[in-house]
Amino acid sequence: MLNSLWCSKQCRDITQNWKSMVKTNELCLKCTQETTYFGKYFCGEDCEEWVNENGPCIFKLSKQGNKFKDISNQFMSSWKHENKAMPEIHTIYKIFPEKQIISRYNNYRDYIESLRRLDGRPFPKGDGRVMTKGNEQRRFHGTRMKCLLGIQTDTLCPDMNCAVCRIITEGYKLIYAKTSRFKYQKFGDGIYFSSTSSKSDDFNKKSMKYYNGVNYKVMFLNKVVVGRAFELTQEKRTLTGPPINYDSVVGEPSALLYYDELVVYDESACIPQYLVVYELPKLPNRRQ
Ligand SMILES: [Zn+2]
Ligand SMILES: [Zn+2]
Ligand SMILES: [Zn+2]
Repeated sequence: MLNSLWCSKQCRDITQNWKSMVKTNELCLKCTQETTYFGKYFCGEDCEEWVNENGPCIFKLSKQGNKFKDISNQFMSSWKHENKAMPEIHTIYKIFPEKQIISRYNNYRDYIESLRRLDGRPFPKGDGRVMTKGNEQRRFHGTRMKCLLGIQTDTLCPDMNCAVCRIITEGYKLIYAKTSRFKYQKFGDGIYFSSTSSKSDDFNKKSMKYYNGVNYKVMFLNKVVVGRAFELTQEKRTLTGPPINYDSVVGEPSALLYYDELVVYDESACIPQYLVVYELPKLPNRRQ
């Protein structure tokens, strides 16, 4: 991987933009012919620009690739409900939203960063990690699906009630959060995420599809601008936004809440990155 450009990893790492000089052995998502540059999904500017101009589009990640492993690790390691058997990952799509949605998200993140100055600051609860711009986090979201995306087709459907295809096409919409399909929402009218995949799995029962003898479900992995988070250890159903001087609400696991939840009240604060399609384990066969 060092190629012959550098004598050592140290020399490589001090070279500006070294990543744009090194190719991986993974194939470009767009052309699937050439290999990608380090940390990129594409073989070069042509493929990258085509996707930027033609979003929304989705591409299946190769099961052998590092990105697939990275996301399955996050999904598996955060599957914590003991009463739910660990699923198996069927497919992961990388999502490239429409460019207006990407710039809306980036602008919001930069705005929150200018307000809060979080980049490089340590997390309040330690462990040595530092925040990135806007305190951006990778979180799961479960919702309903009408079609067989990832199961029988790679094409998005036009059904207005297919939340999965609508989120990929239009981004997250507060209007769906307000006309809630749940009786109530713990932290009011917002868009809900979790770092616990098995928690988001509570919200996507209506994505379950039975196909060729297997039960499938789907879940988004997203980027979310957390900004300055207001922590709650119990429900507050009447919220319509974060408290003043905060950007999001975090439900902390406690006696009353079992798993973490993150709520944002601004559509610009979140953007879908991956769609994970997973297979529910079959019930063990009854003994004959
Ligand atoms: Zn050297
Ligand atoms: Zn390419
Ligand atoms: Zn659909």
